[in-house]
Amino acid sequence: MIVTRFAPSPNGPLHLGHAWSAIVAHDLAREAGGRFLLRIEDIDGARSRPELADEFRRDLEWLGLEWEEVPAQSTRLASYEAAAQRLLAEGLLYPCTCTRAEIMALEPKIGPEGAIYPGTCRNWRVDPEKPAALRLDMHAAMERVGKLTWEDDEAGVQVADPREFGDVVLVRKDAPASYHLAATLDDAADGVTLVTRGTDLFFASHIHRLLQAMLGLPVPRWHHHRLLLDPDGRKLAKSRQSGELGHGLAERRAGGEDGRALAERLRMGQMPGGITLSRFPHGAA
Ligand code: GLU
Ligand code: ZN
Repeated sequence: MIVTRFAPSPNGPLHLGHAWSAIVAHDLAREAGGRFLLRIEDIDGARSRPELADEFRRDLEWLGLEWEEVPAQSTRLASYEAAAQRLLAEGLLYPCTCTRAEIMALEPKIGPEGAIYPGTCRNWRVDPEKPAALRLDMHAAMERVGKLTWEDDEAGVQVADPREFGDVVLVRKDAPASYHLAATLDDAADGVTLVTRGTDLFFASHIHRLLQAMLGLPVPRWHHHRLLLDPDGRKLAKSRQSGELGHGLAERRAGGEDGRALAERLRMGQMPGGITLSRFPHGAA
């Protein structure tokens, strides 16, 4: 049984790129007689706007998709805490009080996810008064699990190599998990067998595969799909106010557009408004 999911964060309205992502995940499940799940990724308390989740459901309905909704991340914090405690007890995490400015002042190397943490707090000498994140001791983790592989539908078998990300944050200062920890635990808890998302998150799968090994979770397959690019060749992004460019789903819906017809056109590769599909592996590592 194939189980896929669409996992939007309610920090901005969905745009055509999200529609594409949801359609790909939906259709992969449907074609195989499987299940398509919706999971609201709302651990980012400060940026989450709960009313957006309702808009997301309306958007998906408008596109003619059917889904099963699983519990939102904000209801699963205890499972993130338990996993983090376990990794901490195994000596695989350490507290880090560095601010972004402190890290950048050390002129760190830049990896696929931005600055690579220079390891300042790896000696456990942190000020207990300061808010701390928990970072993965990448070296110790990789030694623990040995060689790992994972498989993407299109890119084939990958040797998991998360080292170039450095000691990634698994528990944020302001949230009981990072995206990596929460998404990995949830995909396992939800029985997701085919993790479907854009190639901009291809790199994250190296980290997720490592977390699966450390936490004894089942290993899914992955399907990283191409991204929708605007006429300037940049991926559509919430932060670029795609709504203003007419890419916002709620806006198009309110404008009376037929969402099912839009979904059909996307499926046939007829992208509206000068939008093109990226070449694989756009954004990969
Ligand atoms: N919540 C993530 C986002 O909106 C989803 C990432 C994923 O599909 O793993 O970008
Ligand atoms: Zn630090």
